[in-house]
Amino acid sequence: MVVILKNSPDEKQLSQLTDWLEGMDIRIQRTVGVQQTILGLIGDTTRVDIDLIRALDIVADVRRIAEPYKSANRKFHPDDTIISVGAGGVTVGGGEFRLIAGPCSVESEEQIICVAKRVKAAGATMLRGGAFKPRTSPYAFQGLQADGIRLLVEAKKETGLPVVSEIMNASHLDLFEEVDVIQVGARNMQNFELLKVLGMLNKPILLKRGLANTLEELLMSAEYIMAGGNKNVILCERGIRTFETQTRNTLDISAVPVLKSLTHLPVVVDPSHSGGLARLVKPLSLASAAIGADGLIIEVHNDPAHALCDGPQSLTPEAFEDVAAGVRAILPHAYREAPQV
Ligand code: PEP
Ligand code: MN
Repeated sequence: MVVILKNSPDEKQLSQLTDWLEGMDIRIQRTVGVQQTILGLIGDTTRVDIDLIRALDIVADVRRIAEPYKSANRKFHPDDTIISVGAGGVTVGGGEFRLIAGPCSVESEEQIICVAKRVKAAGATMLRGGAFKPRTSPYAFQGLQADGIRLLVEAKKETGLPVVSEIMNASHLDLFEEVDVIQVGARNMQNFELLKVLGMLNKPILLKRGLANTLEELLMSAEYIMAGGNKNVILCERGIRTFETQTRNTLDISAVPVLKSLTHLPVVVDPSHSGGLARLVKPLSLASAAIGADGLIIEVHNDPAHALCDGPQSLTPEAFEDVAAGVRAILPHAYREAPQV
């Protein structure tokens, strides 16, 4: 971190600043130029509050040189992280491409088991299904909640597919015992208290990018989970809010290579919430596979027209088969069938 001082800084304020920084074990290298004086901060500056320094009268500007995330940073962990999911040997990351598929919401036993069997047959290696739904309207279907989790776990037993479901409140954690991957939805990406609780688990977390969050903020949220000891974080680009209205969100496709260079964590793409329309799912999926994502999480429903949540963006099982075939065609070595259980 570099602190650029205003001309002729007040010496008393300057020594208060340097004492405070030295108290945090940071060494200071002072460079006095003709126009400006610069302080180079050497040491672990992750705990330094950059805004606090910027607000000081004697400071003209502050710049971070190193990224504020350590655990998620590829600089300190050059190899891809490979995350094991469930007990059946399914992994995410490290060069293989994974398909996660299932309905936005678990609606009934019949629905989730039917979809689970169909997506498995098409090559999905994980089943998604929401039980606690973050709906914009309090009057909209909120998910089957505990019953939804129970039905999802039944579908896991029936098919052997590990399951992914979203948590909205840490007080529900006990219900997620048999859920293999806990999803943190876009709206909770910066629910730091929830992230801290998930950091104490030893279970994979699928962390979705917030609607209006930068990639650095996404990585800082991953850092919250990892700082607690849970290193099993899968990042998910699911589209961000822009001025465009033709799509539900704008898929930030460049997030994939940018994240892959900044972090060793796996990166999956959600083309369903990005586009918001079933017909956009295939092109967005192929683009994601081609650009180096580690997988896709796709909404699939046996009867999209009557889905209780996100029907317009849900694929039929047949359309999902077509997407899976398309991905297989462009990534012949990176994609494997689901392990037979
Ligand atoms: C979902 O996966 O169903 C969901 C609500 O996603 P997001 O948090 O990305 O909107
Ligand atoms: Mn959804």
